[in-house]
Amino acid sequence: MTDLELNVGECIYCGDTKPPLTREHILPRGLGGNQPPTGHSAALVLQKATCERCRLLTSRIEEECLRPMMDYARTRLGLKRKDRAAAKMEMKVDLLDGSTERRDVDADEVLGPIIVPCYYGAGALTNKPFTDETAPCDYHIIIVAPAHKKAMEQSARAGVELYADSKRFAQMLAKIALGIAVAQFGVRGFEPTVQIFILNNPNEYGHWVGGFAGTPEAAVPTPHLHRIQLQTKQVSAGTFIIVEIQLFAKYGGPTNYVVVGRPL
Ligand SMILES: [Zn+2]
Repeated sequence: MTDLELNVGECIYCGDTKPPLTREHILPRGLGGNQPPTGHSAALVLQKATCERCRLLTSRIEEECLRPMMDYARTRLGLKRKDRAAAKMEMKVDLLDGSTERRDVDADEVLGPIIVPCYYGAGALTNKPFTDETAPCDYHIIIVAPAHKKAMEQSARAGVELYADSKRFAQMLAKIALGIAVAQFGVRGFEPTVQIFILNNPNEYGHWVGGFAGTPEAAVPTPHLHRIQLQTKQVSAGTFIIVEIQLFAKYGGPTNYVVVGRPL
């Protein structure tokens, strides 16, 4: 990806131009978005790109994905801000006498699991009429680092609890995709489709977000932590700008995609 348009001057979600507009990390900071991705010399940041109202809404989306779905793994991978990275994390331990207890153990003793939804085909690509029924998805569990032996001693089983909200996660993917498309084409350079979905209609997720659940393409490992790829695709329903997003690709995370807009 070259010639990125990084100074926006309006909110990429609602179009508001009134200051203050704040900068927007395309990939959430909590996923390493403050680091330059492979092939780039700087982090992907859109300047003057979010109004205050949309910043609050979208940071809540990120928070509700990162914490319950991947907090342990982010700690193990050093993706959490130092001042927020807990030295102790909670682990559930089944003891040999049959009882269960919750223990605070050192963060580096906890295994680093992530739960990632892997969606089926997006409705927008197949002309399927939109319904707000829950679109199905599979869940992939990835372990980025094993539990340290000490946490496993004297226990029959040790684990942590994760919770995945597949609608929220789809909104986070759409947010990343919108940022990438704005960087590539400019805010006026394409017709976006996912703004309302991101801001206030999570039930549209089966329409705009899809994946390769149940196919071998679902999880193709690559050497990079994340893989993000923008393409324009012609399907029977029309021509769309599609962003493939494979979070934690290095560890076999599944490929999902966002139907982020139409070319002008
Ligand atoms: Zn806004």
